[in-house]
Amino acid sequence: MKVVLVVCDGLGDRPTKALNGLTPLQAARAETFDRIAAAGECGIMDVIAPGQPPGSDTAHLALFGYDPYKYYPGRGAFEALGVGVDLRPGDVAFRCNLGTINEEGVVVDRRAGRISSDQARILAEALNQIEIESVDGVKAIFRHSSEHRGVLILRGKNLSRMVSDVDTHETGVKVPDPRPLDDSVEARRTAAALKEFLDKARKILRDHPVNRERVKKGLKPANVVLPRGAGTLPNIDPITKRWGIRAAAIAGGGLYKGVAKAVGFDLIEVPGANGTVNTNLKSKVEAAIKALEEYDLVFLHIKATDSVSHDKNPRKKVEVIEWISRELTPLVDKVSEEGYYLAITGDHTTPSELGEHKGDPVPIAIMGPAVRRDDVKKFDELSCARGGLCRIRGLDLMRILMNYIGRVPLFGE
Ligand code: ZN
Ligand code: ZN
Repeated sequence: MKVVLVVCDGLGDRPTKALNGLTPLQAARAETFDRIAAAGECGIMDVIAPGQPPGSDTAHLALFGYDPYKYYPGRGAFEALGVGVDLRPGDVAFRCNLGTINEEGVVVDRRAGRISSDQARILAEALNQIEIESVDGVKAIFRHSSEHRGVLILRGKNLSRMVSDVDTHETGVKVPDPRPLDDSVEARRTAAALKEFLDKARKILRDHPVNRERVKKGLKPANVVLPRGAGTLPNIDPITKRWGIRAAAIAGGGLYKGVAKAVGFDLIEVPGANGTVNTNLKSKVEAAIKALEEYDLVFLHIKATDSVSHDKNPRKKVEVIEWISRELTPLVDKVSEEGYYLAITGDHTTPSELGEHKGDPVPIAIMGPAVRRDDVKKFDELSCARGGLCRIRGLDLMRILMNYIGRVPLFGE
């Protein structure tokens, strides 16, 4: 028995004026989505807790069965794993922006004029040469991820993720120094090492040919590193061990790869899967079908629904939903043929009128041979609320799926 979990990011929505009061899912003609609902049992899900707007990272931890209030290790760790850094216990990882500051050290642009990946990669290589001298036995590793984004890892003994964000998400303010967030030696060491790295980074970036060239062309130089979201490897039992399964993840965005990697999924790389609306969904779906030969649990993440929601584009969200539904057809065919299970849901609601995550529940449908098929025929927030699954917690989803494929041991006798 096998199961596929499809997560469309930010899928849930609210009644939307531009769609005559319908949600994008209600307005969409998404035959394959509806086929899953009709063949399965439906419900709604509070991914973290009723009314709690989830971040995508905490939401996915919950969907994979790990209580984010207990296991959330800070976003930096996921970012590092997502770009392929072999993160070790004790490492502290930060997500970083390359930004622009003026002479006074005031942030002018948090994205350095949307510097290209090609240029940012060259700068990242220079930053990776920085050596930490003021703090004993600490090494800095810097990797580019995408566009203006990168990851910094501090590696060494006695470090802590209790250090403040340097990126305050604001422009027009002076870049603050990193501060320890508790009284521990570890937090002080980490803040000191981070400060040394950032000071050296400014010097390297100021004189770097890439930036000289940008200034000459009237572009903003990437002359500062802005770290935030310090994180460490979560100390957890991998999903494979917990349920005795083989698990594979297919995702474009680094964050999703990172969360999946952190909980023990194998990552399947798909060319052209880039976490955007232009992702190579056809190949991702093919990869998911192929992965079913080898794996018991296949996780497929699709980001586009969230991206268009953040762009506040409800009509585009309808189109994206219809497109995803069409592209999923071969996967749903395969699952039906083989008598496997498939669940489809979102990681949170991102109302496309607001463009931000909200705490409303998301729709969920599970199809497969043993589910108690209910009479819901359409996959949307309101129809699913009438289904047989009723209202579940995100944290319970993995156990529900593992129960169907016979992986949950008896409790008691
Ligand atoms: Zn999300
Ligand atoms: Zn989002």
